[in-house]
Amino acid sequence: MNVLFVASECAPFVKTGGLADVIGAVPKALEPLGADVRILLPAYPALKQHLEGGTTLRDFDDLFGGRARLISVEAEGLSLLLLDAPHLYDRPGSIYLNEDGQDWDDNHLRFGALSRVAADIACGGLTHEAGTWRADFVHAHDWQAGLVPLLIRMADPNDPPRCVMTIHNIAFQGNFHWSVKDILGVPDHFFTHEGAEYWGQFGFLKAGLAFADKITTVSPTYARELMTPDFGMGMEGLLQARRGDLSGLLNGIDTDIWNPATDPHLAINYTSRSLKRRAKNRAAIEERFHLEARTDAPLFCVISRLTRQKGLDLLLEVLPHLVESGAQLALLGSGDKDLEQGFREAADRYPGTVGTLIGYDEALSHLLQGGSDAILVPSRFEPCGLTQLYGLRYGTLPVVARTGGLADTVVNATPQSIKRRKATGIQFEPVTADALARAISRACALFADGDVWRSMMLNAMRYSVGWEQTAPAYLALYESMTDS
Ligand code: ADP
Repeated sequence: MNVLFVASECAPFVKTGGLADVIGAVPKALEPLGADVRILLPAYPALKQHLEGGTTLRDFDDLFGGRARLISVEAEGLSLLLLDAPHLYDRPGSIYLNEDGQDWDDNHLRFGALSRVAADIACGGLTHEAGTWRADFVHAHDWQAGLVPLLIRMADPNDPPRCVMTIHNIAFQGNFHWSVKDILGVPDHFFTHEGAEYWGQFGFLKAGLAFADKITTVSPTYARELMTPDFGMGMEGLLQARRGDLSGLLNGIDTDIWNPATDPHLAINYTSRSLKRRAKNRAAIEERFHLEARTDAPLFCVISRLTRQKGLDLLLEVLPHLVESGAQLALLGSGDKDLEQGFREAADRYPGTVGTLIGYDEALSHLLQGGSDAILVPSRFEPCGLTQLYGLRYGTLPVVARTGGLADTVVNATPQSIKRRKATGIQFEPVTADALARAISRACALFADGDVWRSMMLNAMRYSVGWEQTAPAYLALYESMTDS
């Protein structure tokens, strides 16, 4: 079975969030099940080095204003199709934002081009020395690939290749001025309420949700939430109408990359049989975050985009409570300027107790998982969330809002779940400062009972967080489209 993935990021090459981790992990999980996945990605500067050894499969004289090439290359165990279009992708800084922190003003062209080339491959196949590779299925991820199902229908109206659209976060929709449809060459009859139109705008994700054969999102709870006005962000009506085609397939993690026994970013490796070793990782965190060495109260960590979605304004509100509880906090993140400022000030106000590092640091994110006691994820909504899964794998117990994938992956500590050796963390609701403060108190109380905390760590590290269940579910979903 051949599958074409279309996405705007992929770990370990280029990453701004969980999407990249998933795109880098799913193909590896599908391969042993017999799927040959090729990932179409823009050749951003971070991928340029891989162009050298690749094979040029196709040339484009004019792809929205410049020449472009499609290069096939193997890297890090993945089969990549890199769209080398320097006029669109060869830019410094963020892959989505310009130096002022605004969306690049030609994002519709940048990701319209990606979708157009995807449709080209999907409908025409790829010919190289070894023969022709044809995609049996196309899997478009998030709004940047949202036009793929529509363009495929344009290219082959009679028997278009079957297409899955996955929503990794519905907050990002790719809505543009309606005139974009003409620039992208989309005929008017696709620009309807049932099609690509979103409140008068041209919507990339809207188009994907309207024209894909199947829609998935990244957890069962988020799939249900998306059909409600509180979470659907204007797409709930469409998703309700398509509920028969919508499923929530829980994300997993790459358990080779995220393995405390072998992780090269830790000060010391450990397993569930050598948990005492974690103290060395904790000491390394204390050094990096200028925290006092303490063992009598938990060290919480946060590894996150700093945005309202992630509920970190609530954490700022309850910091005095966290500090009074004797706990410590190490926060790694970047995003909204007011939150960055708030956490910087908190570190100044509580030296030795609160440590803040503003920025993006993959290696440090591993260390935080390897030495903290608990990870805080107080999101207002969370499609799946990956940091709590890494936390489980590393024995860093998640303290999470009961929403989306957080609700699906953390087993809340109750007297029963503790007794049955199932408890892996703490859930709270509603997502308010008061409820978060109570969750922090509960964590501190459980931590104080060393035996209970240790047994929860062991439960967490045993919990299945890989792709064992979801990879076959994707395969079954692809196969189900053959008959439809
Ligand atoms: P989202 O995709 O909404 O940002 P997820 O929890 O699904 O949230 O995925 C976030 C990913 O990005 C995780 O792999 C997390 O470790 C990583 N991450 C987030 N912020 C940082 C940061 N400042 N430094 C390093 N890694 C980060």
